[in-house]
Amino acid sequence: MLTPDDVSAMLRQASLRVTKPRLAVVAAVDKLPHADTESVIAAVRAELPHVSHQAVYDSLHTLSDLGVLRRIQPAGSVARYETRVGDNHHHLVCRSCGAVADADCAIGETLCLTPSNTHGFRIDEAEVVYWGLCPRCADGDASPPP
Ligand SMILES: [Zn+2]
Ligand SMILES: [Zn+2]
Repeated sequence: MLTPDDVSAMLRQASLRVTKPRLAVVAAVDKLPHADTESVIAAVRAELPHVSHQAVYDSLHTLSDLGVLRRIQPAGSVARYETRVGDNHHHLVCRSCGAVADADCAIGETLCLTPSNTHGFRIDEAEVVYWGLCPRCADGDASPPP
């Protein structure tokens, strides 16, 4: 769990002003890894009832553009956010309920970023999504989450 001091340091490192909404957004995403925008808004508003949706959207965009948060968007899914940045880990996504879990790099950070032929591209990220069924859905309990 990140402390408010950790989050302030992350914001300053990204040359961002430390504001209450930004602190609340990062704290919410830290508490709810892979949360979608709606869940982040709900969590932020539990802390700061007067923050607008737009302020949360803007914070999410700014923070992920500057690398404080990582945005992932599996095909056909809404954008999700997490504070685990910079390690290029991958994700497992359930086809049935959309649950997302972290998967560490299968081979190692560096190798995943080194395809056999880069075609001259300067690569900074490799995105791997493992699709399947989460244990809950695989057990036959296919009812959607509440
Ligand atoms: Zn599932
Ligand atoms: Zn993740």
